Amino acid sequence: RAKQEGRNTYRLFKAEMHRQDHHNLALETALRNTAESGEGLSVHYQPLFDRDSGSLQGAEALLRWTHPDFGTVSPGEFIPLAERSGLILPLGRRLMQLVGGQLRDWLDAGLAPPRVAINLSARQFWQSDLVAEVADLYATYRLPAGQIGFELTESTLLDKHQQAAATLEALRTLGCYIAIDDFGTGYSSLSYLQELPVTSLKLDRSFIHGLGQSRGSTAILAAVTGLARELGLQVVAEGVETEAQLAALGEYHVTLIQGFLTGRPVPADAFAAAYLAREPQSENSG
Ligand code: C2E
Ligand code: MG
Ligand code: MG
Ligand code: MG
Repeated sequence: RAKQEGRNTYRLFKAEMHRQDHHNLALETALRNTAESGEGLSVHYQPLFDRDSGSLQGAEALLRWTHPDFGTVSPGEFIPLAERSGLILPLGRRLMQLVGGQLRDWLDAGLAPPRVAINLSARQFWQSDLVAEVADLYATYRLPAGQIGFELTESTLLDKHQQAAATLEALRTLGCYIAIDDFGTGYSSLSYLQELPVTSLKLDRSFIHGLGQSRGSTAILAAVTGLARELGLQVVAEGVETEAQLAALGEYHVTLIQGFLTGRPVPADAFAAAYLAREPQSENSG
């Protein structure tokens, strides 16, 4: 009897696995079509503010995907799928074009967009023509130096950090700034920081959420922000949701704040309406 039940459970398990495989395959096919056509892709922008002055200092570009059958699929689902299947390369190229075009539109409209951060996964970072692609992006949309930056995770950079440093250096030369995303969740080997030409650290949100609750989080915050200050790096606190969390960052070396408390990711038009001011005219036309 137990054996029979075991068999049934196993059958259910197999059926569920089959259903999942089927779903993933259908999703991957849909994502492949999307990568080719660009249909259903858009970008949301989330503001980053200077912690002390409150001024707008940046935005993070976050990819959004809506499909006629699957509806809006969260990045938590389609980004890992895109990474596994290699579709992240064409999708990433589309995102860069969307961001470049958007920045050009804003600049042409006399608005003053802040620097925009683009997430790069390992496969994108290690493709041989990345630097050429970014140079092309700056040229095509006539972007001012410093208009675009990138976010990478520790695991992407740690593998081959000497080669990574060369690519980062080339991106820096193009005027890009570089942030290490989800900092504190990965490898805790900090020595690589001084060998890589990065400009900022983004403290992971899991870590911000632990503040004031565990003594460990506070100790790590003190150590990491102290080190960042010594190394001349900016520190971004991401995932700040409450006034209490903001207050807990207190006197530490935290440069920028990003989170639901100060602004959620929103479509480009909403971002411009809420945050972008008209560039002050250099000559007063009266
Ligand atoms: P990430 O780069 O760490 O992006 C921040 C994520 O945290 C975003 O989720 C954002 O909506 C969310 N977030 C921001 N503030 C808060 C907050 O106060 N509380 C909470 N709970 N969440 C907050 P999203 O848009 O779902 O993106 C998830 C991840 O997907 C990103 O994490 C990034 O790793 C990846 N991703 C998104 N767009 C792209 C892309 O264009 N290319 C690549 N390679 N990855 C992307
Ligand atoms: Mg990011
Ligand atoms: Mg992040
Ligand atoms: Mg994250």
